[in-house]
Amino acid sequence: MARLEIEHIIPISKGGSNDESNLWLACPLCNRYKSDKTTGVDPETNETVRLFNPRTQIWFEHFGWSEDGLRIVGKTPTGRATVAVLHLSDDADALEVRSYWVLAGWHPPED
Ligand SMILES: [Zn+2]
Repeated sequence: MARLEIEHIIPISKGGSNDESNLWLACPLCNRYKSDKTTGVDPETNETVRLFNPRTQIWFEHFGWSEDGLRIVGKTPTGRATVAVLHLSDDADALEVRSYWVLAGWHPPED
C-alpha cells in the first residue's frame, strides 16, 4: 500500500498557500496525475471546469459508483473532469481490489 502524500489543492506555483485549507492527502498516483492542474475538461460537454475541491465540495454530489461498484463515475462537469484528469476509473489495481470488496459486501459505500 502506497503512502498518502500531502497535496496542494491550488498549487504553490499558482498562488496556493501551505495553509491547511489548501492541503489534502492524496495517493501518489492521483498526486502525479493532478500535478499543478486546477481545471480539467468535462468529456461530456468539452467544457473546462475546476477540479473537485475536497475541502469545499461534497464527494457524493459530484461522484457516484458504476452499477457493478467498480468504477468512480462523475455526475457533474466537475466530477467528470476530475475522474478524467486523475484517471479515477482506469487504475487496474483499484479495480481489482474493489472487485473483492464488492464480493465481500463492503463496497460501494452508501455515504
Ligand atoms: Zn488516488
